[in-house]
Amino acid sequence: MRQYDVAQVCPNGHLSNSRVATEPLHNKPFCPDCGEQNITACSKCGHSICGELVGGMVFTSEFIPPAYCYHCGGAFLWTEKKKQAAIDLFLDEVQDEEDRRRFAENVEHVTRDTPQAQVAASRIKKALDKLKSGAGDMIRKLVVDVAASAIKGQL
Ligand SMILES: [Zn+2]
Ligand SMILES: [Zn+2]
Repeated sequence: MRQYDVAQVCPNGHLSNSRVATEPLHNKPFCPDCGEQNITACSKCGHSICGELVGGMVFTSEFIPPAYCYHCGGAFLWTEKKKQAAIDLFLDEVQDEEDRRRFAENVEHVTRDTPQAQVAASRIKKALDKLKSGAGDMIRKLVVDVAASAIKGQL
């Protein structure tokens, strides 16, 4: 039977095991990358974090932990942290209060696949193109990680 397994992830978004139930051998209480305690359930609603599709003939590409909980729609801790990191990096580069406020707002928009997200993505792109390439690329990478999948390509 094909079904979704459970994922074990740390608060920073490092994946320890995408098949908690079918391959418990790979379960780890703590993250080998950062040492934080791993979780397997949403901290907001308590449902399991959706893992890899298992059973039958399944070919999966590299598993990426979901950004949002499928059950309550809440952002996982790693999604919040990446969003905040992108905004913090932007604040280091840009002094204008209005630009800062808009950037944070646009980051919020691209995390959801709405018509506004398209506009927000193009605004973020323009804002980042004005920055020094190193900082711009780093921020872009974080925003792409938290952006809705339909929006990722536009950043
Ligand atoms: Zn970690
Ligand atoms: Zn949840």
